[in-house]
Amino acid sequence: MSTAVSRGTTPVPPARRPRLTVLSGPSGVGKSTVVAHMRKAHPEVWLSVSCTTRKPRPGEREGVQYFFVDDTEFDKLVANGELLEWAEFAGNRYGTPRQAVLDRLEAGEPVLLEIDLQGARQVRASMEDAQLVFLAPPSWDELVRRLTGRGTESPEVIERRLAAARTELAAESEFDTTLVNTSVEDVARELLALLR
Ligand code: ADP
Ligand code: 5GP
Repeated sequence: MSTAVSRGTTPVPPARRPRLTVLSGPSGVGKSTVVAHMRKAHPEVWLSVSCTTRKPRPGEREGVQYFFVDDTEFDKLVANGELLEWAEFAGNRYGTPRQAVLDRLEAGEPVLLEIDLQGARQVRASMEDAQLVFLAPPSWDELVRRLTGRGTESPEVIERRLAAARTELAAESEFDTTLVNTSVEDVARELLALLR
């Protein structure tokens, strides 16, 4: 008689893989504000720091908001396959350093990317279990107010960003979840729940 314990046919649930979450939404909707609010209370939430050819805004620091690189350096990152995804947005290039993200996922920790629509699409194509979250403004007028009120871009750059915003808003249905940024506190809480 066999003493082996039968495992029967009970399905073994698949090991839950750590999730990569993408947060996208039009420029000025409040992505950075929401993420900063969430991380103030939960500094353990890891956010990927992107590389960009954009110049730093007042108060932005190297390695905190972005790694600021020139065009030649960005070309090299692309050529060496060091970016998980990258895109040109309103006249500058932005990309996610690949290795840091893979290291986090490998260590079993959730990963948050705050990137544009083109980047979100690339992530979806390469990582099918990624979770895509769209941050929407309460209204178009409020988006314009926020982007203009931030006071960090010239009128010409604001126009380019608003043109991109129309395309991004039209792509909302490609995302798994939409959060409407009426209250920073509410959205930060909802985003945290999605990450866990
Ligand atoms: P994004 O990172 O999406 O480009 P920001 O986080 O820089 O946007 O926010 C753009 C502007 O909108 C900032 O001045 C910010 O203070 C403001 N803002 C963000 N969320 C809200 C909100 N829920 N209500 C009112 N103003 C907001
Ligand atoms: P900003 O210049 O306002 O910091 O960012 C402009 C846009 O670029 C935002 O929509 C932001 O989410 C996006 N962005 C920031 N980092 C990346 C990145 O690494 N990849 C992509 N595709 N977009 C990014």
